[in-house]
Amino acid sequence: MHPDLEKMIVLQGLDVEAKRLRDEMSALPKRVAELETKLKATQGQRAVVVDLIAKEEVLRRRQELDIKDHQAKMAKVKKQLDQATTTVQVTAFEHEISFAQGEVSRLEDAELESMERSEALEAQKARADEAVAADEKILERERVRAAETIAADKVALAGVEERRAALRPEIGEDALSVYDRISKGKGTAVAEALNQKCMACQMMLRPQKWNDLRDRSNDETMMTCESCGRLLYYDPARDAPQKKAVPVESIAASIIRSL
Ligand SMILES: [Zn+2]
Repeated sequence: MHPDLEKMIVLQGLDVEAKRLRDEMSALPKRVAELETKLKATQGQRAVVVDLIAKEEVLRRRQELDIKDHQAKMAKVKKQLDQATTTVQVTAFEHEISFAQGEVSRLEDAELESMERSEALEAQKARADEAVAADEKILERERVRAAETIAADKVALAGVEERRAALRPEIGEDALSVYDRISKGKGTAVAEALNQKCMACQMMLRPQKWNDLRDRSNDETMMTCESCGRLLYYDPARDAPQKKAVPVESIAASIIRSL
């Protein structure tokens, strides 16, 4: 294998890892922000229920005052009734008392309905409290996990960057510019060819290309996939491994081990 290609395989591993670390570091705060939004929504739902409970309490206080008013009125009219002298007065007072009694029983019914609504709302509030507590717990756990992961990622990324910085100057300038151009466009620049296929784009290699790639006398030539344009490498240790009794270390693994 071309020595630059060997190094580019390692470089690609480092680049992929650096990208993974950066992606993770930017995704974690977004995940925490999403959980914060979710918690706010759950708290908002609970606030609606708490507000409805308060409104029912205000309503019942007013109903009780109204009941007392009607009862006081009734007591007053009953006294007037005792002193009534004409049938017209008696009828009018009785009418007033009956109206007030009707109002009291209507208000008492309404108060009972309000209490039933409050009971249902209290059950809703209990569920909302649980939902808020659960969301708070998840948020707190994810905040801690995100902070720890990001701190670890920063250290890991510094290590990866250091290895990248040391490796890049060891690769030929032309090869490195080809590597940078392809990886900028495709995300990765080097692809393994396995079982006559480019493992990056999954397209079949023409038989001639496949033969050239496996021919060790071509080690000084870098070949690209005709379909995706990535630089191809062939690893005899990985090709048709079912035929081998003894596992052979892959080239990528042996390069990484030797670094
Ligand atoms: Zn390809």
